[in-house]
Amino acid sequence: MIDETKLIDAILESLPQPRRFTARGWHVFNCPACGDTRQRGGFLATQTGGFRYRCLNAGCRFEHVTGWEPDNLLMGRPRQFLDLLGMEDVADTADHHCALAPSTSTSSAAMTDGFFDCLGQAAAKAAVEGHYERAKEIFEAAEVVRQEMARGVSLRDALHTIRLQSGRN
Ligand SMILES: [Zn+2]
Repeated sequence: MIDETKLIDAILESLPQPRRFTARGWHVFNCPACGDTRQRGGFLATQTGGFRYRCLNAGCRFEHVTGWEPDNLLMGRPRQFLDLLGMEDVADTADHHCALAPSTSTSSAAMTDGFFDCLGQAAAKAAVEGHYERAKEIFEAAEVVRQEMARGVSLRDALHTIRLQSGRN
């Protein structure tokens, strides 16, 4: 499973080369979204386990800063950014993992409720944005998890099942 720290580490490993690190903590490189060749893309890992991304190239879809924090769903522009880095699978796993963010929770029932809430929200959001295939995928993933858990499989192991099934073609 991906946890938030591993997600940020995985992003840092996937950032385009060459890149440099600024005194203010930004990783700077050619923006993968706009054909930039002047290292105008900037990635910042936040103190709270999330990230920010922005591009100084006017007109780029990342001209206005985007970002993600551990309690958020990985949707929209933060997700597009990961897709541009070739991290679709990581983003998928993080989606499935999103409700597990409060990992200090000792109640597995609360975690399970949170997980289904989270998938429900992700599916609704995908549908609202017109990503019907994605919404269907999420509903199907939720159904698989439900069935696995009905057979006594733990949430964590059930998540592993949907990860294996969500391979893209
Ligand atoms: Zn750009």
